[in-house]
Amino acid sequence: MKNFVILGGGYGGLTIIKELLEGKIPSDTQIVLVDRSPFQGLKTEYYALAAGTVSDYDLRIQFPVHEKVTYRYGEVTSIDLEQRQIEFEGQDPLEYDKLVIGLGCTDRFHNTPGAEEYSCTIQSFSKTRETYLRLNEVKAYGHVHIVGGGLSGVEMAAELRESRPDLNISILDRGERVLSAFPQRLSAYVHEWFNEHQVETRGHVAISRLEGNAIYNRDEEILTDAVVWTAGIQPVKVVQDLDVTKDPQGRVVLNEYYQIPEYTDVYVVGDCASVPYAPSGQAAEVQGEQIAHIQHALWKGEKPNPQPLKLRGTLGALGKKAGFGLMGKTSMMGRVPRILKSGVLWMSKRHLG
Ligand SMILES: Cc1cc2nc3c(=O)[nH]c(=O)nc-3n(C[C@H](O)[C@H](O)[C@H](O)COP(=O)(O)OP(=O)(O)OC[C@H]3O[C@@H](n4cnc5c(N)ncnc54)[C@H](O)[C@@H]3O)c2cc1C
Repeated sequence: MKNFVILGGGYGGLTIIKELLEGKIPSDTQIVLVDRSPFQGLKTEYYALAAGTVSDYDLRIQFPVHEKVTYRYGEVTSIDLEQRQIEFEGQDPLEYDKLVIGLGCTDRFHNTPGAEEYSCTIQSFSKTRETYLRLNEVKAYGHVHIVGGGLSGVEMAAELRESRPDLNISILDRGERVLSAFPQRLSAYVHEWFNEHQVETRGHVAISRLEGNAIYNRDEEILTDAVVWTAGIQPVKVVQDLDVTKDPQGRVVLNEYYQIPEYTDVYVVGDCASVPYAPSGQAAEVQGEQIAHIQHALWKGEKPNPQPLKLRGTLGALGKKAGFGLMGKTSMMGRVPRILKSGVLWMSKRHLG
């Protein structure tokens, strides 16, 4: 039997499985999905798990049950591209004939001393559970700082405000404004929402180090009860360790079929893949669809015809009642984008689950 191994049952990996199962898989091939968890964690909602407004159970999607798919649950420690083998913590290695790497991303701390040690993260399910405990055990009227005013930092701060009206909450960003990658109008709306909800937004903060109860903005000491780091991402360590060509964000550079050029039996999907978009669940899904189409064509002995990746836009939440969105050049603000975001989540649960 040939092993078509998929590392990571996230947005990218699971989409590939769904799409592969829609077509004919050769009788001598089985799909092996590898993940540390026996379910998908809906990462786009981790901010709500950390804030305590949704339960762990609400964010799990069960993996598909199908005769062509088997599972290996464990912690991947390395990939040997020469020997075509996956190494695990405390388990036998797994050999592959074809491989998909879809292990997602982790925080990028920009070499800031103390950042990894003293801040909480929302980049993995288990670490987000720890963040939930940490944030919800902050004493009444304590002060939580969110480092990074991008999409996940903004959603984190807004959801925490909903969960803990007593807390002092600040977003610290090195740029001038929150959501700096979005149009000024949209960023101004979010800034105003934070003003109304007593969330401080501070720009031009250059964090030089973190300690147990303090953040240092160059020489200024900012006392804190908890810090959530949302100031940058990079592919997970297993991918960081791969000796292949990467882009400036550390993502693996690929050929037109999303394969590693020197190892064409290996696809890379999602946050680990160098595609012309910022990492997102949506990009991972559309790229996953393309990879499945390419693989089906190869199985049929046809020339694959990959299509350009088309993204629909971005939606963000400001608690459960307000939100914002960017569809092409159109900015959306208020209740409608929030309803749309809930709808997308509902569809995503139905599609993936
Ligand atoms: C708070 C927040 C909000 C976001 N909001 C949005 C949004 O609104 N829209 C959007 O499109 N995107 C959003 N994103 C980004 C989106 O979540 C990611 O881009 C997306 O999850 C990437 O999909 P992926 O398949 O590459 O990896 P993931 O979905 O992260 O899946 C990776 C899988 O690999 C497994 N894994 C990782 N390492 C190992 C290992 N060593 N051993 C075994 N298993 C391993 C993990 O358990 C996981 O199941 C948000 C992210 C965050 C953190």
